[in-house]
Amino acid sequence: MSFALHGIPVSGGIAIGHAHLISHANLETAHYLVPPGQLTQETTRFDAAVESVRDELEQLRATVPATAPAEFVGFIDVHLMILNDSMLSTEPRRIIETEQCNAEWALKVQMDALLAQFDAIEDTYLRERRTDVIQVVERVMKALLGHPGYMPLQTDEGHKLILVAHDLSPADVVQFKQHHFASFITDLGGTTSHTAVVARSLNIPSIVALHHARQLIRENELIIVDGTQGVVIVDPDQQALSEYQLRQHQFELERLKLKRLRYMRATTLDGFSVELHANIELPDDVAQAKENGATGIGLFRSEFLFLNRSHLPGEDEQFAAYRRVAEEMEGLPVTIRTYDLGADKDIDQVQRFITNPALGLRAIRLCLIEPERFLIQLRALLRASHYGKINILIPMLASARELDQTLVLIAQAKQSLDAEEVPYDREVKIGGMIEVPAAALALGIFTRKLDFLSVGTNDLIQYTLAVDRTDDTVAHLYDPLHPAVLSLLAHVFKTAEKASVPVALCGEMAGDLSLTRLLLGLGLRHFSMHSAHLLDIKQRVLQSSLSQAKPLALRMLRESDPDRLLLLLDRLNA
Ligand code: PEP
Ligand code: MG
Repeated sequence: MSFALHGIPVSGGIAIGHAHLISHANLETAHYLVPPGQLTQETTRFDAAVESVRDELEQLRATVPATAPAEFVGFIDVHLMILNDSMLSTEPRRIIETEQCNAEWALKVQMDALLAQFDAIEDTYLRERRTDVIQVVERVMKALLGHPGYMPLQTDEGHKLILVAHDLSPADVVQFKQHHFASFITDLGGTTSHTAVVARSLNIPSIVALHHARQLIRENELIIVDGTQGVVIVDPDQQALSEYQLRQHQFELERLKLKRLRYMRATTLDGFSVELHANIELPDDVAQAKENGATGIGLFRSEFLFLNRSHLPGEDEQFAAYRRVAEEMEGLPVTIRTYDLGADKDIDQVQRFITNPALGLRAIRLCLIEPERFLIQLRALLRASHYGKINILIPMLASARELDQTLVLIAQAKQSLDAEEVPYDREVKIGGMIEVPAAALALGIFTRKLDFLSVGTNDLIQYTLAVDRTDDTVAHLYDPLHPAVLSLLAHVFKTAEKASVPVALCGEMAGDLSLTRLLLGLGLRHFSMHSAHLLDIKQRVLQSSLSQAKPLALRMLRESDPDRLLLLLDRLNA
């Protein structure tokens, strides 16, 4: 029976394909038969994954961060105990051998059996250990996926796969960059959550906050995802299918036409030049940025180098990644943000014990209480600056003290390189992200000591409106057009201009076509966004005139009625 589901659109376009259901713990659990002669190899692969998770947990236990709550060690011990239990470490081997199946599948079968037993337990404490079992299985599953022998799902042209998940972490989504899914949809998530942000960079149609998709859609069912409207059509009839095939074709034609703008300068009709940079998560993303004509990298979210791994990248590995991006951009500016870990990008696994992770030890706050880890990155960034035009960007600054401490650490990293006679760009520019309302309001603290600013509207809106960007139940309150947001933005652009400090905007607002003229009118000349949006935004810049945009943008700034604001925005975009 055909039916439709509605969610929040994250990334536009239309995908038609077969559903592949995944959950946290069975990320890409494909089932395949293993020939009898290869069963020993398969059990060895399973043992190696269990062993590597054991190492990982033991290492984690030995290096518990000073900031970790007291229960943290106990939590690792419980995970080690679960992992070492024969129900998890040996029973899947038996399933591999008797069912002649792959290790991932055997692990999933065993997890389901264990969870069913947990559900039947009366004791609340023991029942809650269910989550721990899932988390341990998830670790082993991820280790298996990284082991030789893993067969990725077939996603050839004839059988496109659409991932259907209850929820995904940013770390899960970044893994999809290596696999070719046609689309993905989730039950949970907000439009500027990091999961959605990474999804946008995959440039495939995606929708979040569908609520019951995971429950209602069956494995392998044919579905249509309209990522522009936020609609999923399950089991479509022939008429709907033809209609969407046509729309898909038109969408692809439009994209092809846009490619012609790749080498054109982004200049408004009245001659103002606009800088359009790309946001990236990993060095591989540079290719897409160049294909779409980016004139620089405006935001490299370096923390993605730290996700999906058991050992953090050392200085040399980081240096190689930053150098590669700088060299591939061939002298164009590359703005690398120091790692913004914590909150939903939780490598220390401590955030689940914290009531308010978005207000806790995140980004620069985390760096400053762990200067050793931060210094490794600063040295790597400085070393890489010798090979291109690298700017260093500090996330989530809120106070003068944080800025001063950061600058001291940068000076310290420079001194250590000087002592070793390691070259670096002595003119390397240091910038700050403006994403906390306090920083926007007290901008002078930052303009006085920094070379440039970059406004992170995803967080600036979250913190100004007190709306959790990852929580779809409050997604309707997340409003870039809220008068408080507009006035903060106008204030930042104006104050930075007065202080002659360049300012960019790198939040999702920069890639939102409906807001380009408004931002231009408010004074923004430097946008950074996911590569997929670059050509659309360039086209809009080419069709805009500042002399027309400015008066309407200023009227919007004085308006507080939400309906009238939308009307004015329509006029601006007409
Ligand atoms: C932002 O907050 O707008 C931003 C660009 O950073 P992130 O989305 O990674 O928090
Ligand atoms: Mg941010």
